[in-house]
Amino acid sequence: MAENHTHTHSHSQSPIPCHDHEQAAGFDWMVLVAAILCAFVCALGLNTMLQCVFQCIGRVLTEPIQWIASRRLNSGIKKKDMVALPTSTYSSTHDSGSPSSASSCVICLAEFCNGDQIRFLPKCNHHFHVVCIDKWLLSHSSCPTCRNLTRV
Ligand SMILES: [Zn+2]
Ligand SMILES: [Zn+2]
Repeated sequence: MAENHTHTHSHSQSPIPCHDHEQAAGFDWMVLVAAILCAFVCALGLNTMLQCVFQCIGRVLTEPIQWIASRRLNSGIKKKDMVALPTSTYSSTHDSGSPSSASSCVICLAEFCNGDQIRFLPKCNHHFHVVCIDKWLLSHSSCPTCRNLTRV
């Protein structure tokens, strides 16, 4: 009863000739040069892009400020200033000499009637119903007729 298991061990591992080692090193060097060139180009591109981005950011940052400033300039006047605007009571006899074009309110498009409270804008001398111009001046500070700023 003798079973003979023969294990064949093959020690046929021959050393791999590494003749492509230098070629690989040369390839690495090329990759390095390519990477440096790429990085250089990228840096240039990035620089240009950053300049563009900064310009854009600058515009984005400064434009709203200018916009807010211009909005604030035309965003309505204070109640105090509004009350300080001259008012008078409209009477057709008082205005008899002037042409009829000035005798209607451009805000509500109604003609002035005798006894209507009207308010003058001193800068341009346009006049409107007190209630109309007060409502208008809460959100605007320019004359509804000629767009002159009422603020001094
Ligand atoms: Zn009116
Ligand atoms: Zn005006």
